[in-house]
Amino acid sequence: MSTVQDISNLNLRARTLLREHASEALACAQQAAVHAIELGYDLGFTESIFLQGSIISLQGNTEEGLPLMRHALYMANLHQFKTLIPDCLQEIARACYTTGDYDNALDAWFQCLDAALEIDAQDTYILGQIGLGQLYFAHDDFYHALNHHTKARDYAYQCQDPAILAAIEINIGVDQFELQQIDNAKKTLKQALVYAQQAKNLEYQAAAMGTLGRVALAERDFPLAHSYLERARGLNQRHQNNWGEAHNLYNLGLLALEEAQIDTAIQLFRTSLNIAQTMNAAHLVYLVELGLSKALEQKGDFENALKFHQQGYEHHYLILRQASPQRLHIMEAKLEAERTRNENKTLREQNSLEREARQHSEHIASQDPLTGLLNRRGLEARSSNMLRSNPEHRQPLALLMIDIDFFKAVNDRWGHLVGDYVLRQVAALLKSGCRQDDLVCRWGGEEFLILLPSRNGVSAQDVAERLRSMVEQWPWEKIEHGLQMTISVGVTHYQNDTQLTPLVQRADRHLYQAKQAGRNRVICAAAPPM
Ligand code: GH3
Ligand code: MG
Ligand code: MG
Repeated sequence: MSTVQDISNLNLRARTLLREHASEALACAQQAAVHAIELGYDLGFTESIFLQGSIISLQGNTEEGLPLMRHALYMANLHQFKTLIPDCLQEIARACYTTGDYDNALDAWFQCLDAALEIDAQDTYILGQIGLGQLYFAHDDFYHALNHHTKARDYAYQCQDPAILAAIEINIGVDQFELQQIDNAKKTLKQALVYAQQAKNLEYQAAAMGTLGRVALAERDFPLAHSYLERARGLNQRHQNNWGEAHNLYNLGLLALEEAQIDTAIQLFRTSLNIAQTMNAAHLVYLVELGLSKALEQKGDFENALKFHQQGYEHHYLILRQASPQRLHIMEAKLEAERTRNENKTLREQNSLEREARQHSEHIASQDPLTGLLNRRGLEARSSNMLRSNPEHRQPLALLMIDIDFFKAVNDRWGHLVGDYVLRQVAALLKSGCRQDDLVCRWGGEEFLILLPSRNGVSAQDVAERLRSMVEQWPWEKIEHGLQMTISVGVTHYQNDTQLTPLVQRADRHLYQAKQAGRNRVICAAAPPM
């Protein structure tokens, strides 16, 4: 019995071999499916049928490939295999596009963009964008195709994957070529070839070379065109990209026509047409039919020339009728909205980073570095809300002002380092003796302020007394022989104060009384009636 890992490995192998060794890839994916069924491993099974579907479609059999991919998509949605969903949609769109089913390609690419955004799958998002540009291209709207592919390039500015970069450059290069921007096209396609070689991606190498062949043909550099197109064809044959091969054959046919080798041209067109028809590649079929018609006309076979001419135009009409330009423009508007949404997302992320940084620096600015307590600024900021909202809530609030007794003597006898140590220890005791929502602050020097929001049943005086006792009881001898610390505390209650100052002044008066009365004690005004 195989394991989940075995199945994943088989699928991974299929993915890697997919473009270059389609039959072996297919065998791996099929094996993965068998094992996944045995094991009841849904994810492995879904991935394997997705892979089988895309391999079979790439080989030109979309009729068999598409249902497999659609089933994989169904399973991925059912089980929420979120990473597989955009992959399935991308390949379904691509297969639909190849067969000239632009309406379904459009829908699938749209859903693909959404699904890719949801899981932040940048690469699939870019592939979706490229696909939508190709739809414009298929409608001979090269201007919008270029526009769109340039947007995909903008979007991929952070992309490191040379295969994706190659795909973008190839599409831009083809658009530029159709728009007669020959020099730009050459530059772009050479860059595409570099990326494709970096990616060791034969499909894209072939695509870049094939288009460079077409550019050379347009420039009437026939030997160069021949060389590029034959090399591209060799690569396409090697990795069984039937569409690519048929497209190369079509261009070799055009080349032969230019060189007045009419019989060769007719033969090339016929071979190309066979492949294109077998794989149902509508766009290519109509192009080849028109090429063949031209060749037959030059040969003097006017009857057949007319037949292919008519067929070609009918096929072209069918394609154009499918996805109206209007629909494409609606799509463009939706895409714009998508882009804005995405940019907003980036902006939101940036804002939240800035907010975090701001919160961090605010935190630093409101903290006392020696004790880690709030500093005066921090307490003032935090308490102002509390005081402002308090009159409505009638929430009891008390303020404790605490001063360490005879602290100067510690510095004088044991030095400032011991003094600091004592300060930190007193701070820690005060903090540990308070609750989470009490505001404990180092007011300055060896003075502390504590703001206590309402407490049920426990008076502020009890809290103060407990803190005083904690400090008195702490084993100060551990720090220095003969060390003994106590604190004096003044307590006051909230009396419709809207600011901190009057509270502090009253507490300070009580603290003074505590000092006067002999220190190590709590002085408290009577709590106001509830
Ligand atoms: P009393 O009981 O009347 O409050 O006497 P006291 O000695 O505690 O009060 P006094 O105000 O005379 O002295 C406070 C001392 O606290 C003076 C100052 O040097 C010291 N001090 C203030 N801040 C720090 C600090 O951050 N570290 C150290 N080591 N000492 C500090
Ligand atoms: Mg003092
Ligand atoms: Mg003191």
